[in-house]
Amino acid sequence: MTFTQEKTLGDSVREDFPILHQKVNDRPLIYFDSAASSQKPQAVLDALQHYYRRDNANVHRGAHTLSGRATDAYEGARDKVAQFINAASRDEIIYTRNASEAINLVAYSWGLANLEPGDEIILSVMEHHSNIVPWQLIAQKTGAVIKYVGLTPTEEFDFAQYKSLLSDKTKLVSLVHVSNTLGVINPVTEITAEAHKHGAKVLIDACQSVPHLPVDVQAMDCDWLVASGHKMCATTGIGFLYGKKEILLAMPPFMGGGEMIDEVFLDHSTYGDLPHKFEAGTPAIGEAIALGAAVDYLNSIGMDKIHAYEEELTSYLFKQLATISNLRIYGKQPTPEGKGRAALAAFNIPGIHASDLATLLDQEGIAIRSGHHCTQPLHRILNASGSARASLYFYNTREEIDAFIIALKDTIDFFQNMDE
Ligand SMILES: *Cc1c(COP(=O)(O)O)cnc(C)c1O
Repeated sequence: MTFTQEKTLGDSVREDFPILHQKVNDRPLIYFDSAASSQKPQAVLDALQHYYRRDNANVHRGAHTLSGRATDAYEGARDKVAQFINAASRDEIIYTRNASEAINLVAYSWGLANLEPGDEIILSVMEHHSNIVPWQLIAQKTGAVIKYVGLTPTEEFDFAQYKSLLSDKTKLVSLVHVSNTLGVINPVTEITAEAHKHGAKVLIDACQSVPHLPVDVQAMDCDWLVASGHKMCATTGIGFLYGKKEILLAMPPFMGGGEMIDEVFLDHSTYGDLPHKFEAGTPAIGEAIALGAAVDYLNSIGMDKIHAYEEELTSYLFKQLATISNLRIYGKQPTPEGKGRAALAAFNIPGIHASDLATLLDQEGIAIRSGHHCTQPLHRILNASGSARASLYFYNTREEIDAFIIALKDTIDFFQNMDE
């Protein structure tokens, strides 16, 4: 008898990720923590090594060959990122250390220059701390006021409340595209259009969307968008800020130093053109090149395909989790086809600590996260001190979900029997 089982995307990409082929506590590693940081394909590791073995030199400064190669690769990666999110110009991509730094750049540069006492900033209660704390710091300095959009009873963004909060006092809406805890996908295009009716600017935190689904900043019409390289198959130490050119041109520099200047005198300086105006000092050259390689790798698969496969995983994950009684999963449910949500589930089981669950699953080689996932205000609203979170990427498989569900059921049984 012969039968052929179709190879899924997860099956076919696994060989690209060396780290996945190891045992942890004598079990095959199941990595379900990609929302915190993704794994890196060989192509990205190779790009980093190639740069350091062959091209390493500082950028933009030297007449020599190595500096030319480093500059070409560094700036070439910027073109790749710009195309990846459909920016209108490469000048609209500013490299940063991570998404947090990109948000701080906007907060300190645009926020300090533009916000006045009584101006309003709208955030949502599902924001990552990175999209709350910088605005609190700027609100304290400027007298601006922060307002928060809450959740509907089904635990998604409350669009009606959002509309009621908007007014001519609103100067900024800063919002997560895909929540790293609730998993919900926010209607950012509609949210942006509403904000623009009131003349407010919009920043989108795309940390959990850019790695997982096609993102088009021109279609979205957002004013800024931020993401981190390490969640999209690149290394740590690199992220980016997208900003509309006319807005970036009007913003003062955030940090001063080499690379970002035009001319320096003892009493004043003039600044470089975009994007260099916002890139003070020697940048993370190798990491930026690795980000370019990550974009090439994701494109070689196709973001549509990645998203469609992750919907399959989401559908399967939620069907399997539904077989566990008493499991409280946060955020709106996906459709049966796995649509409307990211491939992640943050959950709790009454009477069991999320950290105990994660520790016991680690004994089975399964890596999930426990804690507040940098969303403490959201957890307070959900009445939970923390949660366990399984977050998947396109290199995960149904077989891994099966193994996770078995181990999770065993772990729950273990704790519940202990109580008897
Ligand atoms: C990870 C994450 C951030 C912060 O990213 P850093 O790389 O730590 O700067 C912000 N927002 C969301 C939704 C995230 O998932």
